[in-house]
Amino acid sequence: MPKNKKDNEIIEIDAKCKDKRQPAFGFTNRGELIPCCWLDTQKNRFDKKYQKLLSVSKISEHKSIENIILQPEWIEFHNDLDNNKGFPMCYIVCKKRKQPGHQKQTTYIKQEVKVRKT
Ligand code: SF4
Repeated sequence: MPKNKKDNEIIEIDAKCKDKRQPAFGFTNRGELIPCCWLDTQKNRFDKKYQKLLSVSKISEHKSIENIILQPEWIEFHNDLDNNKGFPMCYIVCKKRKQPGHQKQTTYIKQEVKVRKT
């Protein structure tokens, strides 16, 4: 498992896709559904487990999104997250931090401003 360069501690994943901080899936320009848009990087494309997930995630090959996310590879991915195992980008984007680090959403509804950081 990846470690922090500074203190050599194991990086803990605080998965935003496991709660409402990252409620949407992502999809690639190759037509694959992915757990979140942050995963769509070249670095992940070299990861064997990510390649396995992509191999069952082509949207045109399934009748529904539900059918994709119920594939064993997707279930394994979610189980792995529960055991602090993720794809390379998960250790960067969802690294456990004291302060939110990667997303700020500002919503304006009838002059009310809501700011959400994750
Ligand atoms: S980077 Fe990984 S852990 Fe974070 S939201 Fe995306 S898939 Fe989930």
